[in-house]
Amino acid sequence: MDQEQINQLKDLLSAPKKIVIVPHKNPDGDAMGSTLALYQYLKKDGHDATVVSPNDYPQFLKWLPFEEKVVKFDQQNAIAVQLIKNAEIIFTLDFNHLSRTGDMEQALKDATADFVMIDHHQQPDNYATVTYSDVHVCATCQMVYHTFEMLDATGSIDVDMATCLYTGIMTDTGSFRFRSTSSRTHRVIANLIDKGADNAFIHQQIYDANSPKRMQLLGSALNNLRVLPEFKAAYITLSQEELDAHNYEKGDTEGFVNYALSLQDTRLAMIFIENKQEGIIKISLRSEGDFSVNEMAREHFHGGGHINAAGGRSDRSMADTVDYFISILPQYKLALNA
Ligand code: 5GP
Ligand code: MN
Repeated sequence: MDQEQINQLKDLLSAPKKIVIVPHKNPDGDAMGSTLALYQYLKKDGHDATVVSPNDYPQFLKWLPFEEKVVKFDQQNAIAVQLIKNAEIIFTLDFNHLSRTGDMEQALKDATADFVMIDHHQQPDNYATVTYSDVHVCATCQMVYHTFEMLDATGSIDVDMATCLYTGIMTDTGSFRFRSTSSRTHRVIANLIDKGADNAFIHQQIYDANSPKRMQLLGSALNNLRVLPEFKAAYITLSQEELDAHNYEKGDTEGFVNYALSLQDTRLAMIFIENKQEGIIKISLRSEGDFSVNEMAREHFHGGGHINAAGGRSDRSMADTVDYFISILPQYKLALNA
């Protein structure tokens, strides 16, 4: 954010406002951590703030401080629509295109509020009055911390806010191991621990909440793992039938794609997950090094994201989606073997 944008944001927040804070659809740890931390700050600063999420989030996030205050657009539609209509400021966090909010998009487009975007994905859209976009930062939670720095507000960070921010940085960096993790990230994390974030407790809440059925679903996923050595690629499929057989719940497949990427000599990993209700195959893409899955997701799978982690979807059947994926690989062969 440049000085002009910081001043603009300070101006927007200089008197108590009605504020809505929005994460992307199917919010992850970074989306929920960042929106909930900002929510707490804005409340402390005297604003009337609400987090309005497009839909529900996984069980493993349902311990975050103040998550019970989140309004869900799909389940509490009338309340959510009213909040968006009345809002004077709308913060959009961890996404940069309103279509990432699914069915909530139109309500946001109709809103009269000033928008503030805080996000670290590639190619931001320009719907916001204040845009804080930085693709080099590992997590939106780290950017919210920097926003507090720019507002001279780090003194307001308490243990609950620190817990939310720590969670998003931890989940978006794969517990501080992805390339996006910088020395600055570790400095922020150190400060959050000083503010009271309990690293072992947070890790336990997120990663040690496995159910036997989820582990068995992982077994099915690993059984379906296929390797394409010629392209240094590997992929996993999960059909609706397989999900149903393991009583699939939102969040159960989180991280599965990383097993494909962990194979030796694999630079590209994909997981294809059938969603019969939406009539789509949801796709997660991961890569190592310079190979951009953001571009592959944009070009072929109606999606996007980061260089090494992106998502998208296909409207074809599972078999056709996999065939299509295999058919485009030759054009990436050189890049994948570079
Ligand atoms: P995941 O595979 O974990 O769902 O998402 C990986 C990254 O890609 C995340 O940063 C997420 O925000 C982004 N992403 C996931 N699905 C989509 C999508 O459908 N469209 C776009 N533009 N980004 C996505
Ligand atoms: Mn993120």
